[in-house]
Amino acid sequence: MNSVQSTSSLTVAKFGGTSVADYQAMLRCANIIKNDNSNRLVVVSASSGVTNLLVRLSQKNVSVIEQKDIVENIRAIQVNITQHLSSDVEAQLNQEINSLLDELTQHALTQLLQYSTKTADAILAFGEQFSSRIFAQVLQSVDIPGEYFNVQQVMKTNSLYGKAVVDLNQLSEQSTQLLAPKLIDKVIVTQGFIGQDSQGHTTTLGRGGSDYSAALLAEALNGTNLSIWTDVVGIFTTDPRITDQARAIKEISFGEAAEMATFGAKILHPATLIPAMRRNIPVFVGSSKEPEKGGTQIKQKVDSNPTYRSIALRREQTLVTVKSPAMLHASGFLAKVFGVLAKHELSIDLITTSEISVALTFDNPSGSTQSLITNAVVAELEQLCEVSVEHGLSLVAVIGNGLTCAKGIGQSIFETINDVNIRLICHGASANNLCFLVNEDEANYVVEKLHNTLFA
Ligand code: ASP
Ligand code: MG
Repeated sequence: MNSVQSTSSLTVAKFGGTSVADYQAMLRCANIIKNDNSNRLVVVSASSGVTNLLVRLSQKNVSVIEQKDIVENIRAIQVNITQHLSSDVEAQLNQEINSLLDELTQHALTQLLQYSTKTADAILAFGEQFSSRIFAQVLQSVDIPGEYFNVQQVMKTNSLYGKAVVDLNQLSEQSTQLLAPKLIDKVIVTQGFIGQDSQGHTTTLGRGGSDYSAALLAEALNGTNLSIWTDVVGIFTTDPRITDQARAIKEISFGEAAEMATFGAKILHPATLIPAMRRNIPVFVGSSKEPEKGGTQIKQKVDSNPTYRSIALRREQTLVTVKSPAMLHASGFLAKVFGVLAKHELSIDLITTSEISVALTFDNPSGSTQSLITNAVVAELEQLCEVSVEHGLSLVAVIGNGLTCAKGIGQSIFETINDVNIRLICHGASANNLCFLVNEDEANYVVEKLHNTLFA
């Protein structure tokens, strides 16, 4: 077995759902690990499709028949992988998978009797439990000293089920104690996305949270690199589904990448870069299908700082305008408005103001058709001011460098799209972005046209 040496460099490698979707995919990931000895901690997502099935299973009123169907679907995905391993390893893994599925069925029945977000999290966490166990064995099958590790020993969180907050001090302490010593001669495989609260209940960090788990572990273990292996060859100048002119970016600064992740480039969980930036850990994003194609390096200092780096698009934005003559020369009005929004746990995205009105935008991260701005929120705001709510808008973010001091950017951007109605513009808070809202049905046109001009 190729034992792992040198503690000087430590790469945390995270493999997303498509990278661990099936046996061939897992094998490609194993080769990536094999080709670079610094890969010593592996964080995996659930195999593609499994978390979506678990989400359905975790919902209210799922009939026992549908429950069984989902459990069998999940079993099929996992045993489809284990069948490629040696028969004794296959038998052992299938036994573990079966007993985990029994546990899962119990949780599903509990959920049917009495729904809770606590049980929902217990259910959602199973996908990573399967994939990490299987992937450790796939590593062993190609002579890498892979070993399963239960991340719940170190990823301690509060009890905000579905959106749990990690206790960084405990993570650092427990990782140093329980995880670091294992990394000396093993390649440890653990779960992204999941954690455990102080009462020992399973928690999750939010959809797509495995990237964030990996970044937190890299930070806790003083990692030298974080690699995010996905199914695209890095971060693109814009969504390639919008224009075939989009191209992969070789390197990008933390600041720019954070703006991109926040403003809709779906490639990284938006929180991923926060731990990496705290510890100045370079992040690589590449495709486990085509590792030879390289990918994007995200780091503090990059060689080139172009004015325009990329264009991100986020759909289904909600624009709320609050208006009150009482705002004129008054103080404290906005604090009250923000108080209402905070009470409803609504996070504001963009803000623009005029003398007596303020426009606020809200993201719809779940993509759900139900508005985040409920009647209750509107009613409460209406006690303070006039309120109008608009839907059907998309947010276009032009990401780059020095945008607050560059000359002529307004002209370059808006001249290009002078046939389009711009609903709101936000510029000045960050040198890394300029954002505006357009109608949903014109969004692709805007992005394509801007890309053609700014990245010609
Ligand atoms: N499996 C989880 C999800 O699908 C976490 C992740 O993949 O990052 O959301
Ligand atoms: Mg993901």
